[in-house]
Amino acid sequence: MLNKLSDTTYYLSNQGDRERPTLGLVCGDRYSLIIDSGNSPQHAQDFLLEIENLNVPPVKYVVITHAHWDHFLGMNEFDATVIVNSQTNEIIKEWQSLSYDDSSLQKYVTTNLMSAMCMKIIQTDMPNRDSFKIKSPDVIFENTLTIDLGNKICILESIKSTHTDDSTIIYIPDEKVVFLGDCAYGTTTNSLFHYKQSLLLPMIEDIQKYDAEMFLLGHESICDLNEMNIYWEELTTASQVVKSNSLENAIEAFKAENKRDPNDNELFFIKAFVNDHIIQSQ
Ligand SMILES: [Zn+2]
Repeated sequence: MLNKLSDTTYYLSNQGDRERPTLGLVCGDRYSLIIDSGNSPQHAQDFLLEIENLNVPPVKYVVITHAHWDHFLGMNEFDATVIVNSQTNEIIKEWQSLSYDDSSLQKYVTTNLMSAMCMKIIQTDMPNRDSFKIKSPDVIFENTLTIDLGNKICILESIKSTHTDDSTIIYIPDEKVVFLGDCAYGTTTNSLFHYKQSLLLPMIEDIQKYDAEMFLLGHESICDLNEMNIYWEELTTASQVVKSNSLENAIEAFKAENKRDPNDNELFFIKAFVNDHIIQSQ
């Protein structure tokens, strides 16, 4: 079932066991807009079925927050204008050249082009896929794009992110809601989980310039302003003490500056920023 944020804004909760991210729906007087197309055609169909029950204006736009498979593989199911930033478009182009038969999928997993989880979801949720090909996005934007759905403005912005280089967020001023996709998360490089430290403060600035009270995250569903601020605070406090690839030095610096031990979240973030230094030095 869809969760209702307001009379015009809804979301389908993320589902961790099936690697399904949060999907959003914003409705104006004339049209509706979808945020992320799901991790498979099946996920997209499940979402469309829920939307049909709502009796909202037709879905005219689909915005993809970034080119990770779980956010765009359902794209073909929507008879709508698909909007991406230019970097997302470049990555989707690479996925257009893939084949989806079992032996090709296995080859992509072996060569680290695709995660094992991605292959599993494709094999489970897409039984008929020998001729499957992701369609091309319709609108490619740089920096920002504003869409009016009929008395309902949506602002799309391509922002700096600790997760990917192609993150788009969607802000709905009327509702004080912002859909973040996965932008506020870390990422995994060479099996190391890390947050891109140099992009943390620019990202927070990019997000905090919007007057928002609700934040939708790709794999958490919803956070209020207080929860979001605690998350930024813990990330920032952790980042400040990491100046090299030494975890010991970072923890000592944390204790000296904050007169206490880091909590579990802060320790997790400190490790991730240390990993970022390790990756940068490789
Ligand atoms: Zn992602």
